[in-house]
Amino acid sequence: MRVAVVGSGFAGSLLARVLKVQGHDVVLLERGTHPRFAIGESSTPLANLTLERLARRYGLDDCYDLAAHGRWVARFPEVRRGLKRGFTFYRHHPGRPFEADGTRTERLLVAASPNDQVADNHWLRADVDHHFVRAAVAAGVEYRDRTEVTAELLKTLGAEFVVDASGPGGFLARQLGIPSALHRMHTRAGLLFSHFDRARLFAEVVPGLPAGPYPDDWAAVHHLIDEGWMYSLRFDHGVTSAGFLLRERVPGTPEQMWRHLLRRYPTIGALFCDAQPLMPLAFKPRIQHRLTRAAGKGWAMLPHAFAFVDPLFSTGIAWSLRAIERLAGCFENGGLPPTAADLARYDALLSREADQIDWLVAGAYHAMARFDLFAAHSMIYFAAVSFAEIRQRVGVRPDENHAWSGFLGVGDAVLGGLPRASLRRLAHVRSPADRREFIHWVSRSIAPRNVCGLANPAAHHRYPVDLDVLLQRHQVLGMSRESLVSALPALRGFS
Ligand SMILES: Cc1cc2nc3c(=O)[nH]c(=O)nc-3n(C[C@H](O)[C@H](O)[C@H](O)COP(=O)(O)OP(=O)(O)OC[C@H]3O[C@@H](n4cnc5c(N)ncnc54)[C@H](O)[C@@H]3O)c2cc1C
Repeated sequence: MRVAVVGSGFAGSLLARVLKVQGHDVVLLERGTHPRFAIGESSTPLANLTLERLARRYGLDDCYDLAAHGRWVARFPEVRRGLKRGFTFYRHHPGRPFEADGTRTERLLVAASPNDQVADNHWLRADVDHHFVRAAVAAGVEYRDRTEVTAELLKTLGAEFVVDASGPGGFLARQLGIPSALHRMHTRAGLLFSHFDRARLFAEVVPGLPAGPYPDDWAAVHHLIDEGWMYSLRFDHGVTSAGFLLRERVPGTPEQMWRHLLRRYPTIGALFCDAQPLMPLAFKPRIQHRLTRAAGKGWAMLPHAFAFVDPLFSTGIAWSLRAIERLAGCFENGGLPPTAADLARYDALLSREADQIDWLVAGAYHAMARFDLFAAHSMIYFAAVSFAEIRQRVGVRPDENHAWSGFLGVGDAVLGGLPRASLRRLAHVRSPADRREFIHWVSRSIAPRNVCGLANPAAHHRYPVDLDVLLQRHQVLGMSRESLVSALPALRGFS
């Protein structure tokens, strides 16, 4: 079948390659050219698990190597990336340096891997996307860049099915007049961002922090502030991708906004005082988008074309890869187009997942006012992803099709409703007693899926990857201790 994929970010290029491997006749269309700057860099264990599954199913050995830091560095040293060992959060207050205050420090560290070798990566998207485009071309995908895609062109090219991978470019939304569903979204934030040279390490600026499960900076670092939050992702070659997500616009030009925020939060100021932007700082007033449909007869969208919420919790890459796996499955249909039933299922799942991400992120914005609330709410995210990760790694049900399992607990009897319930509860939290009750509620609610000992006051917000805790909780996975022990070699870093 002749398939046109519009947009050659990593997602469009990878799907185009998979479809080609399946035997389809694929044209990949890009309005720009590679290498090019792109944002959205921090990967996660679930993203890497999907990459590994795609690698195995379609013989894409580069994807297998790109799924772990050690393999990536050994095989593709020229494709730049950053070591990511986990998720680091700090709460800053206006006019006050960040305080190292023993176990009361407003700092949350959640490890995502036990060592550097098997760790996740921040993807330097200029390099990674270029890699995926070249790999698609090498696999036989017809690639046209600097192309203005129109309905006429798609007809001339003989496209029988169109995949929209144009991200916020919104190609099909315009072509098909698909209405926006932005009004459904609770999250609202603008973005001030660039890439920087010479950002300092947190440990240099704030000495004396209690030891964590990994070096704080080799992670997706989140600085929570009154106005929203800031991400800081360090690449191995010394460049840092950083940006503020702001609920309200700060007055001034992007440079003035940046300087204002650095002055207001002295520790962030100290981290970035010598940092030079590698391209002009830019501000986007609202980064969310959301459509009413993600698929129909003869077409489908990848997640970033359908909806985007916020970089908090690094959901974009993992969600995109999961959708690639699903769509690839839909195209395994004896050379025929995906069935209407498959496309309807794809559409419905993406819609529920976009809502789920939105509830989770909107709740987090509410909770940011108080660090203990934020740490508690974020446990819902960590419970959902760690439960899914362990299930997938140890193969709790060998026949389970992980591609179609709901992202972030969608469809799960315990986790499915938690992000929304949490958002609702957070709106009513006022007093210290309310806060204590909320924290207990989270802990009770995630307990049936809590494989990693999350929401444990004795951990003082520092969560390593802990095999003993996992073994103690074998029943959460519905496994005997013995069968979990025998499945352990499948857990990364422990074999
Ligand atoms: C501020 C920010 C931070 C983020 N951080 C993270 C993160 O840390 N972790 C994470 O997992 N996700 C993150 N994301 C999400 C991530 O960026 C996306 O999930 C990811 O970029 C999706 O990749 P893609 O290939 O689908 O789309 P894109 O990367 O958007 O690529 C789309 C491609 O389509 C091309 N195109 C656009 N319009 C047309 C057209 N009309 N015709 C032809 N080509 C077209 C573009 O030139 C581009 O090459 C972040 C997003 C934002 C906005």
